[in-house]
Amino acid sequence: MLRLIGREDRGLLTRPSMARGCELCFPGQKSVIFITGLCGDSCYYCPVSRHRLYHDVMYVNERKVGSLEEIVEEVTRSGSTGASITGGDPLAKPERTLEVIMMLKSVFGESFHIHLYTSGRYATQGLLKSLDNAGLDEIRFHPTLPGLEKRVETALRNTSMRVGIEVPGIPGSENWLLSLARYLDSVGGHFMNVNELEVSEANINQLASRGFKTGPVGVVVKGSRETILRFMEMALEEGIRVPIHYCPASFKDSIQTRFRMMRTGWSSHKIYERVEDDGTVSWVEITPQQTGKCREVLSELVDEGIIFPSGKGWFLTHPEAIGYVRERASGCGELFLVRAHPTEPRLLIEKNLLGP
Ligand code: SF4
Repeated sequence: MLRLIGREDRGLLTRPSMARGCELCFPGQKSVIFITGLCGDSCYYCPVSRHRLYHDVMYVNERKVGSLEEIVEEVTRSGSTGASITGGDPLAKPERTLEVIMMLKSVFGESFHIHLYTSGRYATQGLLKSLDNAGLDEIRFHPTLPGLEKRVETALRNTSMRVGIEVPGIPGSENWLLSLARYLDSVGGHFMNVNELEVSEANINQLASRGFKTGPVGVVVKGSRETILRFMEMALEEGIRVPIHYCPASFKDSIQTRFRMMRTGWSSHKIYERVEDDGTVSWVEITPQQTGKCREVLSELVDEGIIFPSGKGWFLTHPEAIGYVRERASGCGELFLVRAHPTEPRLLIEKNLLGP
């Protein structure tokens, strides 16, 4: 008899055999590769930013990229052990998607785990085989039209990939979810993920016009969580064996993104940066006085490797070095404590005057 396991307060409610892509996503080990914003669908609940959706742009995590080299650079900087390929619909740009998968496998090795999201509308048998040959490990279908879920069977029969369905938990959609789970069960699908329906700037008007309300924490649609839990109970009662995983929206923001930022911070922080508990990085900027004595002291501190020229007229140092710098270079400039996201270039969060 299958059991619901896991704990909701840990951001997980699941049954055995969670998809490998989710296992790596949980501790922030996956880079998110947005292959293209192009998509043949127009889902009213689509949370993708309108700066990206329907635009042929590429991002890795928060960084806009334009080449394979930049993709490798950003994945390396993030210290990731895998990637999720998303969009838009990545299969709207099949050649690019195949090229990126092959490149990631050749640079980071076979064990670098890659999963991909698609509606399935472009997933022909030939393309699914090519994805498998390129090294894709896992494919998740979000069937936006009736019948698209059948692409699961095509993938299962013709490839060695792990194959599942991933859909949002639209309030009141228990029966639809149950029909997808029954189908997956009948064809031997590997997993089903249901995401709590998120509210974003991109979908808030469409959701509101359909009468959906935001939940108490603001970023989710009221009733989505309850629908998913009801569906899971129904699946359990019916003896459906396919593993089902519920992913709360808060988990994505508070745990997964934070972990990913921490990994990025730790693998890419500069010598003068401190990685904070929330994954941001901080450093101290010194705006120097141009007197002869100060120039001399600051140049000594540079030679000692305590402060670093920014190349723009000011100096940078580690927050732990403030006391020493103040002692040696008292009155030689103003100090600012800066905090930023560990993106490249750094995305400033705050800059506070610490005094001279
Ligand atoms: S298929 Fe995905 S990316 Fe495309 S409109 Fe629907 S939710 Fe958005």
